[in-house]
Amino acid sequence: AVAAEARRLHQAVYIVGGFVRDLLLGRPSLDFDIVVEGDAIHLARSLEKRYGGRILPHTRFGTAKWTISPIREKLAGMLSEKNKIDPQELPEALDLISARREFYDYPTALPTVERSSIKLDLHRRDFTINTMAVRLDGHHFGDLYDYWGGLRDLEQKVVRVLHSLSFVDDPTRQLRAVRFEQRFDFHIEHRTLQLMDEGRPLIRHLSGDRLRHELNLILQEEKVFAMLARLQELGLLAAIHPAFGWDEGIRPAMQHVLREPLPESWEFPEKVANLPIRLALAYLVWLLPNPEGKGIAERLRLPATLQEHWQDARTLLENHQTFQDFSASQVVKVLDEIALPALYAVYLLVENKQLKEVLERYIYRWRFVYPQTTGDTLKAMGIPPGPEYREILWQLRAAWLDGRVNSVEEEQALLQC
Ligand code: ATP
Repeated sequence: AVAAEARRLHQAVYIVGGFVRDLLLGRPSLDFDIVVEGDAIHLARSLEKRYGGRILPHTRFGTAKWTISPIREKLAGMLSEKNKIDPQELPEALDLISARREFYDYPTALPTVERSSIKLDLHRRDFTINTMAVRLDGHHFGDLYDYWGGLRDLEQKVVRVLHSLSFVDDPTRQLRAVRFEQRFDFHIEHRTLQLMDEGRPLIRHLSGDRLRHELNLILQEEKVFAMLARLQELGLLAAIHPAFGWDEGIRPAMQHVLREPLPESWEFPEKVANLPIRLALAYLVWLLPNPEGKGIAERLRLPATLQEHWQDARTLLENHQTFQDFSASQVVKVLDEIALPALYAVYLLVENKQLKEVLERYIYRWRFVYPQTTGDTLKAMGIPPGPEYREILWQLRAAWLDGRVNSVEEEQALLQC
């Protein structure tokens, strides 16, 4: 549809970047980046008019998002028999971009953009292997455009920047270089590695949000541990924060959260989006041996609310003796303060058998123990609502937990006192 519409409008249109790279590597994806040599918004509007869906233009950058989820069936139906795919495999939306070049007013700034040719659009990209384009419109369909040596580097399995200021323009590319290198089993080309070495200090100018975004992408990769080890080896984790590092010791626990489904018996709340990735990040930030969790968390701009309960989780991990002479209610008092995901992360790391058993008792039994009495009961008894409700209810709960109360009658009796 995009190709046909571009042809009607006499616009050259290309599919670029990761899609072309992956296609040539024999790992086709449906991750489309479409570049128009001309006005992408105009093209998107015509597509919307002819085929439906919805477009969201972004005039400042000359880009448009075309949401195709409502018309997937129709679009999939247009494919030839040989190329048939399940409509659900089509992406939610396509990004259409006007070919542009970018200027950086100062290193690490967000770029100023200007319309350009496809050649210059490809030149603003990170690595040669990401600079190839396949043209889609008219009789040019299928032509490969490779201005910057992408095919050669793909064949030689090399990650190479396009120019010597690449990491100065955008230091996040250092993290991306490692990600592509490890993902494809390539190697970072010698000069590029030198430039990374020189550019490493610039990482300190990056915002926490951008760093967090890149780390999240790494944590979603299959070869995440090789990537972390390589980042460590190149000094890139320490460039983010001096105490930030990778330690193979946490690998089994981290692997567990990333690869295994969350255990149903823990009854995690339904809506904890991306929990595995968030837990994996928490391992790096807070639960590595000897980190300065707080400093790293601030550098990555992790929400301050997380700080407290992860700090508690860490204290728990460090003090195996914590619960040695504790009653059940004393344990519950401490663990109730720690969010369930943090407790899960700690549980997977704990080696001390006794502590592990205590955590299991809390998770499977104690946290569900509550008295029959509620606030309404107390109200009905004529006790005026106030902070003492909390205290009374806690005392009753503690009595159940510690075995001082074993029946509703006994609870009643205690309540009367
Ligand atoms: P992935 O397979 O991880 O999605 P991708 O190559 O598709 O990899 P995206 O992050 O989706 O990567 O970016 C799309 C394209 O935009 C890349 O192929 C690259 O050409 C370009 N790009 C992305 N981030 C940068 C950056 N920081 N600097 C320069 N070019 C970038």
